[in-house]
Amino acid sequence: MTSSTNLIDGRAIAAQLLAELAPRVAALKARGVEPGLAFVRVGEDPASKVYVGRKEKACAELGIRSETHVLPEMALEVELLALLQRLNADARWHGILVQFPLPRHIRPAAVSAAVAPHKDVDGFHPLNMGRLLLGEPGGFEPCTPAGIRELLVRSNVPLDGAEVVILGRGNIVGKPLAAMLCQKAPHANATVTLCHSATRDLKGHCRRADVLVAAMGVPEFVKADMVKPGAVVIDVGVNRVPDPAARGGSRLVGDVNFAAVQPIAGKITPNPGGVGPMTIAMLLRNTVRAAELAAGLQ
Ligand code: NAP
Repeated sequence: MTSSTNLIDGRAIAAQLLAELAPRVAALKARGVEPGLAFVRVGEDPASKVYVGRKEKACAELGIRSETHVLPEMALEVELLALLQRLNADARWHGILVQFPLPRHIRPAAVSAAVAPHKDVDGFHPLNMGRLLLGEPGGFEPCTPAGIRELLVRSNVPLDGAEVVILGRGNIVGKPLAAMLCQKAPHANATVTLCHSATRDLKGHCRRADVLVAAMGVPEFVKADMVKPGAVVIDVGVNRVPDPAARGGSRLVGDVNFAAVQPIAGKITPNPGGVGPMTIAMLLRNTVRAAELAAGLQ
């Protein structure tokens, strides 16, 4: 089956989510509360600039005020932490997002822990991660895994009892997604296998997956012979590969060989147009929720 009928359209589902947020933003503004999201970027990493730019644009379209603070590449960790303290104390900002990756001399864990948990709309503070692991409601969930779950749920993919195999145990995607989908809860309750570079018989694990999530950062790693016919395939990877024929000499590909896998998958995310737009939509949802909590609306 080579058709677009098995595509999970992340752009359309993200647009639906944003449409659901619009009345909540209007209700906040009617009470004199303008939801605000502060971005922090360190250095001039081109991909980080693009990501923050997209998020700023999405904020503007939804009516969320945003401001971006840029520190130089050589800024000290202590300077970044001081900026975060100021933003934590500033009531205009309901959410704070520090764009990763950070320069090597700055410890990501120290930065994640320095964002006030109630403004941690990226969901990386240890308190929010802990709540996620424990299955406690009330915390902020990391945006990419939350977006993946939303894609699955809104595409009517059964998760209860499903075999979910996740490739990649990164702190941003694989690990929190595993914690989310293994909970004894609605829209979860899956049997989750988390694979990584030391996994034996990786192909064997992949082939029994009802839902296969690729979040490794390895270009087109997942081939057709790794996928059970009818399985749902989610491609999280964003990899730049050389391509002399492309403008700028390179192009972006996912972790899944889309052309080979789409014909046998039950459902599959395109890349781009799958997980990426959902990550942004979930960030805005977390920000609206943070503003509602601050305004006593939740
Ligand atoms: P990460 O922290 O670097 O984790 C990568 C994981 O993949 C690690 O667990 C690593 O194993 C595993 N891995 C790498 N090569 C492997 C191989 N050949 N076989 C088995 N496992 C392998 O990466 P991340 O931050 O989670 O990001 C993963 C990908 O998702 C990247 O392409 C990133 O750009 C993309 N991403 C996309 C979005 C979005 O919104 N679309 C958001 C976030 C990330 P070890 O642990 O054993 O080293």
